[in-house]
Amino acid sequence: MSKVSQKTKKKVRTRANGICEYCLSQDKYSPTSFSVEHIIPGVNKGTDNLDNLALACQGCNNHKFTRIEFIDPINDKKVKLFHPRKQIWAEHFQWNEDYSKIIGKTATGRATIECLRMNRENLLTLRKALFVAGVHPPEIVKYDPTL
Ligand SMILES: [Zn+2]
Repeated sequence: MSKVSQKTKKKVRTRANGICEYCLSQDKYSPTSFSVEHIIPGVNKGTDNLDNLALACQGCNNHKFTRIEFIDPINDKKVKLFHPRKQIWAEHFQWNEDYSKIIGKTATGRATIECLRMNRENLLTLRKALFVAGVHPPEIVKYDPTL
């Protein structure tokens, strides 16, 4: 079970600027609270250290569960899921033309979108509304290495 302290969780939230590190949903515009998740789960020898923790929205967190890999829908091969501490979002994902959908640029990107269902129907609607309101897409977080 997770032994992540409240202090560490707070650091993860601050580091992520309140943004889901997978689908880039913003905590402040979400009806459900975000969780601090283990990128590599404990059963796969993942640690409670900051370099194995990420902020995830409820949907991404639930769909990811304890998975670390998934099938790339294009070539049908199992690949590792996106690792927000080791990989850069924009290298694996991009927005479509109206910023409502996330498109995978790599096998990892595509598999992660599938596994976490990063284009869930409610997210598409929310992204469109937030785009009109001028608050979507969020700026990609630049990690503060001192955190
Ligand atoms: Zn998310």
